[in-house]
Amino acid sequence: MSYFDKLKRKWLLPAIAALNLLIPSSTLPYEAGSKNDPNCHPVITALVIDAYNSSMDNEGKEELRISQDFKTKIIQGSIDEDTPPRYLNHFMDWQTGKGIWGFSSALEWAISSEVQSGAVLPVEKVSAEFRADYEKLLQQCNCDGKYPLGDKSWGEALGYLQNQIYSTALGHVLHLAEDMTVPAHTRGDVHVLRALGVEIGETEIKFSRIGDLYEYY
Ligand SMILES: [Zn+2]
Repeated sequence: MSYFDKLKRKWLLPAIAALNLLIPSSTLPYEAGSKNDPNCHPVITALVIDAYNSSMDNEGKEELRISQDFKTKIIQGSIDEDTPPRYLNHFMDWQTGKGIWGFSSALEWAISSEVQSGAVLPVEKVSAEFRADYEKLLQQCNCDGKYPLGDKSWGEALGYLQNQIYSTALGHVLHLAEDMTVPAHTRGDVHVLRALGVEIGETEIKFSRIGDLYEYY
């Protein structure tokens, strides 16, 4: 064993393990709207609605304000959109415009009634390295081969609005627009299923399953 190997085994690995423990839990990856971070989407959605309402007030168009009841529905939609496995369609690479693992991009998902009301992506169509994670997710989600909550696309949201029905659909679409402001969602980083981990082998350090580094800031 070389001097460096000895040094690594004796000091470096334990030091990294100790440092890992010092990382506050607030820096761990989170799923927006989940129990780790219940406030992100509802808070942003409420701010969006408030900004819209005050601009309607300023323009003297009070009749176009979003009512409190409707606001509550929209906020609920923005939370529900993360129901597994819907969130796998919440990504869009800023360069290629593609989603992750073979799922629809956030834009396709937002506008396609067909995809949202259809069957979930079959396991064999998912990129090989993520199949195991996806299979586990499908077992947990209890969604019977279809996307839970069905069609909440932009067209559906507009249809409800035209008929003056106040549904949660608009909140689902807003959720997607909000996700597009997060670097992880535009660079194919599936932060949700990953956690910070450092595997310490005999003589090597392996960083495993590192999620969204931007979320550590
Ligand atoms: Zn999302």
